[in-house]
Parts: sequence; structure tokens; C-alpha cells
Amino acid sequence: MGRPVQTLVAGGAGFVGSHLCDALLARGERVTCIDNFHTGRRSNVAALENHPRFTLIEADVTEVKDLPGPIDRIYNLASPASPPHYQADPVKTMMTNVVGTGRLLALAERHRARLMQASTSEVYGDPETHPQTEDYHGNVSCTGPRACYDEGKRAAETLCFDYLRAGRADVRVARVFNTYGPRMRADDGRIVSNFVVQALTDTPMTIYGDGSQTRSFCYVSDLVAGFIALMERAEPPEGAVNLGNPGEFTILQLAEEVRRIVPTVSPLEFRPLPVDDPRRRRPDISRAKELLGWEPTVPLAQGLPLTVSWFALDMKKAPPPAAR
Ligand code: NAD
Ligand code: UDP
Repeated sequence: MGRPVQTLVAGGAGFVGSHLCDALLARGERVTCIDNFHTGRRSNVAALENHPRFTLIEADVTEVKDLPGPIDRIYNLASPASPPHYQADPVKTMMTNVVGTGRLLALAERHRARLMQASTSEVYGDPETHPQTEDYHGNVSCTGPRACYDEGKRAAETLCFDYLRAGRADVRVARVFNTYGPRMRADDGRIVSNFVVQALTDTPMTIYGDGSQTRSFCYVSDLVAGFIALMERAEPPEGAVNLGNPGEFTILQLAEEVRRIVPTVSPLEFRPLPVDDPRRRRPDISRAKELLGWEPTVPLAQGLPLTVSWFALDMKKAPPPAAR
């Protein structure tokens, strides 16, 4: 191709999306970011706004009809990802994932672009198999408070694979496991940002349930590398690909890790476990290793201090609202 690859990043002003925009620009691509700033922030992409290959469009993915081409690649990250945020307006969350993904697939078809869908480990729900492989069909409640997100992402996957099977678009689906790092919002509500902000501000570290539930935490640069590897694979893989770090921790262990890094007097405060909260989660990443030659390189012991340093600096600029 004699011109830069033209790439659309929907949800590009969010936590992961802004790191993806950075990485794509560094690869020489021309990047258009679409975001409605629902959970994303202009400040995440402020440093890019004068970049000659970067364009920011404030728009809602559910309303996108057409965009000037050419468009070669579409990364769809547009969706709130934190439980308090996606549950605040559950109908909107479902629509963003289903209608928004449908709009972007139509755009991919029109422009003959590849589309990479950021799906989620939440499609496995509260899993009965451990670790989770891509052929596990999941255990999701379709009526609970998390369903707007879990089922929205499941329906979005269905649309993706229907487009792929029908030969209407080249689609790749990443199932993303818990990812953390700089640029998470202080009021994001997810576990890593909550614990880090709480420890840095000496406010109680909130443990939901008894803290024995597990999660596996992937540093954001590893996830971004996985997204690009999946997008740039010559052929779309058959089926979805897990992207995550298999290092598994209980929530209590994570609290201890944070307290090792941040000198804090925060007490632990136990709160009720949210409805349908998955008991454990760890990706089997054999497929990603085999198909993409990808595996994470940043262990929690390395990624957590980087995240703490970023929050400490960011909070000096603007003190955070209370973590949820
Ligand atoms: P985030 O909330 O920081 O980013 C999501 C972005 O999408 C935000 O900028 C938001 O404003 C934008 N957005 C939301 N609805 C939109 C709409 N209707 N139109 C246009 N833009 C919209 O979350 P994140 O952690 O960066 O997650 C990015 C993607 O990765 C999401 O699709 C999420 O479901 C997926 N994912 C993330 C994780 C994780 O741990 N970070 C885990 C699994 C899946
Ligand atoms: N959690 C917690 N305290 C918090 C925030 C979350 O104990 O302040 C728990 C939550 O109940 C879940 C785990 O940490 O068991 C991960 O939650 P998060 O919202 O980060 O992601 P998800 O549940 O979507 O994996």
C-alpha cells in the first residue's frame, strides 16, 4: 500500500483505546478516533490532537452511518467496561454493543475494512470450567444486572461471526480479560484503580465478598500488542481468541500487592458481593500463543508499580472524586 494504513478506533478516547491510538500512530498508521466521551476522556488523547495523522470525531457508534474513506482497519472498543458504568444506563450499554457493533460491521463491509471486536471474558459469565478456553460456551445470566454488558457483548460476537461466515467482512474477535494500567479513571470503579486510589488516599480498600474470588490481570501494553497481532494476522482465525495474562490472584492477594507498593494506612473494608459476580477467571491463552505468537510480557509485579506511579502523578494534577 503506497499510503499509510487508515484505521478507525471506536472508543479511542478510553483507557485501552487511547493506548491503542498511541501504538497505531507509532506504527505509521493514520488514526481516526470516534468517541462519545461516555467514559472516555479528551485528556487521554489530548497529546495526539495536533498529530498530523490523528483525527478525533465526537460521535456515538450507534449513530454512525458512513465516514469518508478509505478505511482499512476498524477496532471496536466502544463500550463502557466497568460494572458501575455499564450498569448506570444498561439499555444504552446493550444498544452500544449491539447496534454500535452492527453499524461498524456495515462500515467494514462498505469499505472492505478488517474489523477487530473487543469482546470480553464476561461472555464466560461465572465459569464452570477453569481456566477458560474459547470453546467454553459460558454461564451468563441473561436477566441479571451484568447482562446488559455480557449479553450485549455476546450478541455483538454473534453479529461479527455472521458477517464473517457470510463473507461480508473480515472480522476478528478478541476476548479480553481484566486489563489495567495508566489512564484508568480514578472513579472507574474497577478493582485495580479502586485499590490504587484508595491506598494512595488512605481511604478504606473496599473488598466485595470475602475477597477469595480471583481475577487475572493484564497490563495494557500487552493487550494492545495482542490487538494489533490479531488484526495483522493474514487470515481471520476461526472463532474468538482470548487475550489476557494467566497470572491469577485473589482479590485479597491483589490488595496485599498494592499495599506492598503503596505505603498506606488504609484499612480493608468488606462489602457485600455484587449479584452474579464471577467467582474466578483465568484465560487459557494457548490459541493466542499458537495463532498470533502472542503472550503477555509484563507481570503484575511490574505493571502495578507503573500504574501506581501514574495515578500518583495524575492525582497531583486533579484530586480524584471518591472511588466507587
Ligand atoms: P473505557 O470505558 O475506558 O473505554 C470505552 C470507550 O468507549 C470510552 O472512551 C467511551 O467514551 C467509549 N464509548 C462508550 N460508548 C460509546 C458509544 N456509544 N459511542 C462511542 N463511544 C463510546 O473502557 P476500556 O477498559 O478502555 O475498554 C475498552 C474496550 O475493551 C471495551 O469495549 C471493553 O468492553 C473491552 N474490555 C475491556 C476490559 C478491561 O479490563 N479493560 C476487559 C474486557 C473487555
Ligand atoms: N471488587 C472489589 N472491590 C472493588 C471493586 C471490585 O472487591 O472496589 C471485586 C469485584 O467484586 C470482582 C473483582 O473485584 O470480584 C473484579 O472486579 P472489576 O469490577 O474490576 O471487574 P470484573 O468484575 O468485571 O471482572
